[in-house]
Amino acid sequence: MSDTLPVEPGSLDGEQDDLASSHVPGSAKKHPEIDLPRIERAVREILAAVGEDPEREGLIETPARVARLYAELFSGLREDPRKHLKKFFTEKYDEVVLVRDISFNSTCEHHLLPFMGRAHIGYLPDGKVAGLSKLARVVEVVSRRPQVQERMTEQIANLLEQELKAKGVAVVVEATHTCMTIRGVRKPGSLCVTSAMKGLFRSNLSTRSEIMQLIYGERR
Ligand SMILES: [Zn+2]
Repeated sequence: MSDTLPVEPGSLDGEQDDLASSHVPGSAKKHPEIDLPRIERAVREILAAVGEDPEREGLIETPARVARLYAELFSGLREDPRKHLKKFFTEKYDEVVLVRDISFNSTCEHHLLPFMGRAHIGYLPDGKVAGLSKLARVVEVVSRRPQVQERMTEQIANLLEQELKAKGVAVVVEATHTCMTIRGVRKPGSLCVTSAMKGLFRSNLSTRSEIMQLIYGERR
């Protein structure tokens, strides 16, 4: 295996131009590649620091394994989520579009532990409608970075507002944080809910309760 992990060609969808011309923080320009050997060295250091023997049989492959794991968990640092919203349909559809229960895994940037859950994304289009799977792709890219749930929620909402020029955007994220369940306060089963409301979902109470009803209605 080579020392560095370049951006996977498949992940670009041939949209390199979009990627290169974007200036979002954490975009491909800033993180051209992941330095696997450096992660390996660091993991060996951690193992030694906790009093383990990094050379013992069971641990010998661990640094390399963790390096590849981090490359995967943080692959979103080398991708621009905007690319998934560049293609849209022009539709005279002015009702709410909602994609519920988009599951994701992310990594809490305070503890480097996983948090996982579901995102619900609703928007009121103004002529531009994104492919439904593209919303899931946006969640995927944004979650595969060192994150905090609040920022992730806000980022998804901003991306939709900016790229689709939607009349309103509502993003609700529900997640379980392992940094809360396996350490510290140890509250298994606790769910953190964050939301970001833009445009009409922010300013118009009835529009907002409509989307919340759609997200939480029927099923609970
Ligand atoms: Zn945490």
